Amino acid sequence: MKLSPFVVGLTGGIGSGKSTAARLFVELGAGLVDTDAIAHALTGANGKAMPALIAAFGADIAAGDGSLARLEMRRRAFSDPALKKRLESILHPMIRSEAAKAIAASSQPYLLYAIPLLAESGGRALYALDRVLLIDCPETLQCERAARRGSLSREEVWSIINNQASRAERLELADDVLDNSGEESSLLTAVRALHERYLDLAREKISDGL
Ligand code: ADP
Repeated sequence: MKLSPFVVGLTGGIGSGKSTAARLFVELGAGLVDTDAIAHALTGANGKAMPALIAAFGADIAAGDGSLARLEMRRRAFSDPALKKRLESILHPMIRSEAAKAIAASSQPYLLYAIPLLAESGGRALYALDRVLLIDCPETLQCERAARRGSLSREEVWSIINNQASRAERLELADDVLDNSGEESSLLTAVRALHERYLDLAREKISDGL
């Protein structure tokens, strides 16, 4: 029987550097299961979630190609908390189920399971995580960096930050914290050290399970 792999939940607020950190870990040999990517696939053209979403919210939430009309859905969810809850109650279990399949199929020594909204979506109880890693930096830096990506204004990023969990709430969930307030080169140094630690912990998990 294949042992379950060592899974590190990766979380952090918008613009904190999750994607950047994940890329550095993957370059070192870690696996990655990304819930944003899974959500995108589930709601793409012919995505597995589309029939349930159309049944719940109507055919006009689908774009011409059958994918989710994301802007329209986001607009509706933003102004209607009950609708947002319903949307999440359809999507989140499907995302977790797809993620569990990807985790079971992985062959890397350990995996990062990217869950940006871990603190907002009920914490670690819903996920089989061996550890939680938080990417952390001051909110002013989150805003500056996220706005620099270009698709959102500073005001839009601030509004997202204000609607997300606070740094303190995220810190409470974390076993490890990567401070991303410096240069990317400092992040890489910290990622290298944690990568070694996760390899050790993954080996321990395997020997404990044998
Ligand atoms: P998240 O995935 O948490 O939203 P990203 O990894 O996409 O955040 O980082 C947000 C932006 O900030 C990206 O454009 C990224 O290249 C940049 N960035 C991340 N870390 C640093 C850093 N240490 N120094 C400078 N820019 C950074």
